[in-house]
Amino acid sequence: MRIAVIGAGIAGLVAAASLQRDGHDVTVYEQREEPNADGAGLTLFGNAFAALDAVGLGDTVRAISDNTLPTLRTGQRTPDGTWLTTIPAQTVGQLHSLHRITLHETLLSLLEPGTLHTSAPAVVSADGRAIVHVAGTPETFDLVLAADGLRSRTRQRLGLDAGLRYSGYTAWRGVTQPGSVDLAGAAAETWGSGSIFGIVPLPEGQMYWFGTLNQPAGKRFADEPAAAAEAFAAWHHPIPEAIAATAPEAVIRHDIYDLEELPKTFGRGRTVLLGDAAHAMLPNLGQGAGQGIEDAVTLSLLLRSNRNQPLGRILARYSAIRRRRTLTLWRQSRLMARMAQASGPIATRGRNLGMRLVPPHLIASTSQRFHQWDAPVL
Ligand SMILES: Cc1cc2nc3c(=O)[nH]c(=O)nc-3n(C[C@H](O)[C@H](O)[C@H](O)COP(=O)(O)OP(=O)(O)OC[C@H]3O[C@@H](n4cnc5c(N)ncnc54)[C@H](O)[C@@H]3O)c2cc1C
Repeated sequence: MRIAVIGAGIAGLVAAASLQRDGHDVTVYEQREEPNADGAGLTLFGNAFAALDAVGLGDTVRAISDNTLPTLRTGQRTPDGTWLTTIPAQTVGQLHSLHRITLHETLLSLLEPGTLHTSAPAVVSADGRAIVHVAGTPETFDLVLAADGLRSRTRQRLGLDAGLRYSGYTAWRGVTQPGSVDLAGAAAETWGSGSIFGIVPLPEGQMYWFGTLNQPAGKRFADEPAAAAEAFAAWHHPIPEAIAATAPEAVIRHDIYDLEELPKTFGRGRTVLLGDAAHAMLPNLGQGAGQGIEDAVTLSLLLRSNRNQPLGRILARYSAIRRRRTLTLWRQSRLMARMAQASGPIATRGRNLGMRLVPPHLIASTSQRFHQWDAPVL
């Protein structure tokens, strides 16, 4: 089949690589001059690796990842370092963390030469026909996969867009210089009032961190690294040290949005949505990219094992499977965000008490549902 992929993010690149391996003729359109990822870290759970394994990409991604987090104490802490919960090791046993730029470069290297077209903003046909317009020139395909991210123009063109919703919080992220911070055997999320901080080991002795803060959308700080350092100055070791060990230009900040509603269907005609374009969720479960990977692999496998079935039937099945799965995670991510970003002494005290009372096995069994992926059947 001739397949167009719009967007060279994680979802688009995993889809392109696995479909090309299955012999499809794939073209990737990326609007940016240089396809790139932001300079932060990423965690991928067992579900993402089960999906990647199903298309032969799991070991490639494992090879560029760190898997020491399950050997560290992890869970939730308070800003003075007190542990609220310790997450059972099996809950994060398959978790790998990696640098986004490394992942992006690795996925790009899997594509055949000539697959990727950069500086190529693509516009789809509003009626779902597999026609892509690039610089005004129409190109016809058998199938269009739109992995064009949170602000997907394809979602709007297809009439599937209910808008975005601001979460109420912003997030700084950074990656430390190699070997500069001692994790002291722990890598946790620390929950304060309207603010959380997360620590994740990366390969080659680097550390990925993120820090959030409740604030109105669009607010700017004159000096972002200094604002991050100030927000977490009194928090436990190694939080201030991690911010200090990050080059100022390596500190990034984004206001956090998710979709107001998920689209009722993940496509129209021969055009389907993948990744954040279909189901952008808050990052509080660390599942956004993992779900984009699941989308890409689910679609690849449905196409691979049902070559004699009508395409419409396969795409309808894709949409049904993926919408059900991601709706749960999109909702749970919001719930988690509400707890994590709770602010004020009464709300945080109540939340912390609740966290202390949740039995670890309950956390393990709830997470297990999210961290599992089942191959699709038509
Ligand atoms: C603070 C934060 C932390 C996160 N942490 C995690 C985590 O630990 N684990 C996890 O799994 N997820 C995490 N996520 C979510 C994850 O980053 C996203 O879900 C994922 O990167 C989305 O990938 P994507 O390929 O769908 O979209 P994107 O990465 O947004 O890629 C879309 C691409 O499409 C291109 N594009 C857009 N429009 C067009 C067009 N018209 N024509 C051509 N190209 C176009 C864009 O330039 C871009 O390259 C986090 C998110 C945030 C904000």
